[in-house]
Amino acid sequence: MTWNDSGDKFEQMWNINQDPMKVPYICPYCNEKEGHMYMHVYNLKTHRGGLWLWCSACKQFFHSSVYVPTWWSNLPIVDENQLSAFPQYLDALSTRIDKHINQLISNKKHLVLPAK
Ligand SMILES: [Zn+2]
Repeated sequence: MTWNDSGDKFEQMWNINQDPMKVPYICPYCNEKEGHMYMHVYNLKTHRGGLWLWCSACKQFFHSSVYVPTWWSNLPIVDENQLSAFPQYLDALSTRIDKHINQLISNKKHLVLPAK
């Protein structure tokens, strides 16, 4: 099965700035719990980076250039030179990536948010 860049449903179910989901998540295409996510900051001053959302089971994916939120930090083992629009490199690292993201999300919940 090849990667299929039509994963718009991934984008609709994610809000990277508000409430990121723990990973892996249920894929909106095949309902397998094989959904992953990764962001990579290229420029720490501007916070420009890339976002990938994909499913290891059905190989749907979404890739976009984004302003990476400040709670994010790159996973050190990810080699920037290996990144491309297609997530096959990231998918090989999905276990490590999931662990990293869930840790970041837990840390984020500990941040003190201003009262509404
Ligand atoms: Zn899927």
